[in-house]
Amino acid sequence: MGKSKVLTNEPLIKIVGMKKYFPLKKTRLFQREILTVKANDGVDLVIHKGETLGLVGESGCGKSTLGRVLLQLYPLTSGKIIYYGYTLEDYSPRYLFKEINSLKASRLKYEKYSKQIQAIEAKMASQKNNPAFQEQVKNNEQEIAKLKAECNQIASDCRSQFGTFFASNNMRAIKQAIKMDALIYKNKEKVAQLELKQVKLEQDLEKAKKIKNVKAEADVAALKKQLENADLNLIADLNKKLSIAERKAQHHVIAVDIDIRETQKKINLINDDTQRFIARIKSLLEKPIELNTEIVAKLVERKQQHFVREKRIKQLQDFNLFTKEKAMISRLNKKIEKLINKAANVTGAFILSDDIAGISDTLFKNIDALHTIQMNKEEITLLEVKKFKIEQKIADDKGTYTDFQKDVFQERIEKINQKLANLHAENEQLTEKTKQLTQEIKEANAKLSDHPMYEELEAKKEKGLDLSRLTGEEMRRLRQDMQLIFQDPYSSLNPRLTVGQIIGEGLKAHDVESKTKDNYQDMILKVMDKCGLAPYMLHRYPHQFSGGQRQRIGIARALAVNPKFIVCDEAVSALDVSIQSQIINLLEDLRDQENLTYLFISHDLSVIKHISDRIGVMYLGQIVELGNSEEIYRRPLHPYTKALISAIPTTDQGPKQRIFLEGDIPSNVFPPSGCKFRTRCPLARKECAQRVPEFREVEPGRFVACHFYEETETLRPS
Ligand code: SF4
Repeated sequence: MGKSKVLTNEPLIKIVGMKKYFPLKKTRLFQREILTVKANDGVDLVIHKGETLGLVGESGCGKSTLGRVLLQLYPLTSGKIIYYGYTLEDYSPRYLFKEINSLKASRLKYEKYSKQIQAIEAKMASQKNNPAFQEQVKNNEQEIAKLKAECNQIASDCRSQFGTFFASNNMRAIKQAIKMDALIYKNKEKVAQLELKQVKLEQDLEKAKKIKNVKAEADVAALKKQLENADLNLIADLNKKLSIAERKAQHHVIAVDIDIRETQKKINLINDDTQRFIARIKSLLEKPIELNTEIVAKLVERKQQHFVREKRIKQLQDFNLFTKEKAMISRLNKKIEKLINKAANVTGAFILSDDIAGISDTLFKNIDALHTIQMNKEEITLLEVKKFKIEQKIADDKGTYTDFQKDVFQERIEKINQKLANLHAENEQLTEKTKQLTQEIKEANAKLSDHPMYEELEAKKEKGLDLSRLTGEEMRRLRQDMQLIFQDPYSSLNPRLTVGQIIGEGLKAHDVESKTKDNYQDMILKVMDKCGLAPYMLHRYPHQFSGGQRQRIGIARALAVNPKFIVCDEAVSALDVSIQSQIINLLEDLRDQENLTYLFISHDLSVIKHISDRIGVMYLGQIVELGNSEEIYRRPLHPYTKALISAIPTTDQGPKQRIFLEGDIPSNVFPPSGCKFRTRCPLARKECAQRVPEFREVEPGRFVACHFYEETETLRPS
């Protein structure tokens, strides 16, 4: 299997802070904020040459979007995608010309800011030596001392009147204490009202008890009186009446009693509250103080006086210590740093050169020459193919062409030869020129090597192509290197084209045939053969094939243009299991034969495990774990990875050991704060909601985004 091959660590694609947000329509006409679906939210990833990187995650986690953004089918929202298939100089994209042109302007700005810094520093130095300034500083110091003394006096007044706490400058705590005090006052009022109510209720209770007794006694007396002459029926009737009267009286007593108890409960609650406020104030103050409106107004006035003096002290200190000037210098330094970093990204340390005009000119000429050489080479290939075809016609001639036609052919060949000679001559000249220019560039670079920032800036120079900065045409040319295999083999093939036409489309679009001089049909047959398609299928239409064969056509179409990198977006998900294994084996064989690099996107963990060298696990637009596939399966470090792996079906006997995740994947319009997985994570705690876990290398080659990844091992199936 392909996995046994030795992998290099040479990067082919580097993704830095990649974000892809899809804007949503406004739900209200005057809605200010436009909501976005955060399909990819800060992805950092390096794909190495010759590896298969598997991307796995639930539906909607942003895997396919990542693949499409990589191929620039969707524009980036922010971040960078660097492709190392070509060097910056070889491909010489438009933005490189732009960067070289802006080098002079950047250098001018750099000088302007540096001069401004020098001017400020010179002004500070001259002021320091100026007697008038020194006099002013002295006066300021005296004023500062006086103001500080006044501040101390105010603080001491406050301390003696309101306690040490109120002498402090912690206005927030003071305000809190004042607020608590007001609440205590309100509580006291409430308690007084409730106590009044309670007294009234107790009186009611007494009354009710009395009524009950009087009534009962009266009833008993009446009963005794009537009993002497009454018959049995009357006695029973009187007893019944007595019982009702007693129950009514009893009921009233109980109701009042409940009311009293409830009021008591309320009083207790308010008293508890008051105790809490008092305790809080006690913790703020050294000793509790009775505040009232008058005292608070006095306190605020004193504090205001303190504040005005402190402000003035700061002004004077700023003047004496050049605070504003120093802040200005720091701002300018930041601007310089930004400028230098931007320039260094493309041209290394050249922004430091004193002869910026000269070096910009040399760099520009060199890139221009390299660009022309490339263009000429492409034209030479086209002309040679043209010439070859005419020569073939003459060679294959069996007397069908007249002498006149043969002369025309000859004339064309001569013209082509002439053009070729010119182009070769121009390229030779330009090659000589670039050699010379490269030498000049090297020398200019060597001159800068003593500069303290040289190493740092040279290290920042990016050698690959920034895909998001390429023009449409540049990206179109580069697509020959980067292909896509689609998920659905049914809808991804044009039903009106034959297999030959489908595979040949890319060859025509990228002029592969003319570049290689091979016959168009031979190339199609060759690639069909590689993908296990018989030659007789060339003129058939997609509907005449099974799902597996159609996917082979899709693979052949991607492979026809000799790509370096292929995104396989759920390439086997629509196929049944036996066909899946055939296609996976085919992809592995092709990868080894053609030295391809795959980004294999799938939600099927067993497929990913089988084909990938490394695996990236995605959740809600972010990669949460990345590492060697064997390692990830053996010892997952992220709780989400562990849950996913536990869900892989096995043929083992006995009950399935699985970690179940609660709930659904959250919305990526309003993702959870902190760690996006926290709403479903069995290990989640308070910190997970407050801090976004950093995606960091925790072991060599092993990256994870979890605060508590060491505890993942403790997770057990439920
Ligand atoms: S950071 Fe917290 S919520 Fe996120 S995966 Fe780790 S433990 Fe779970």
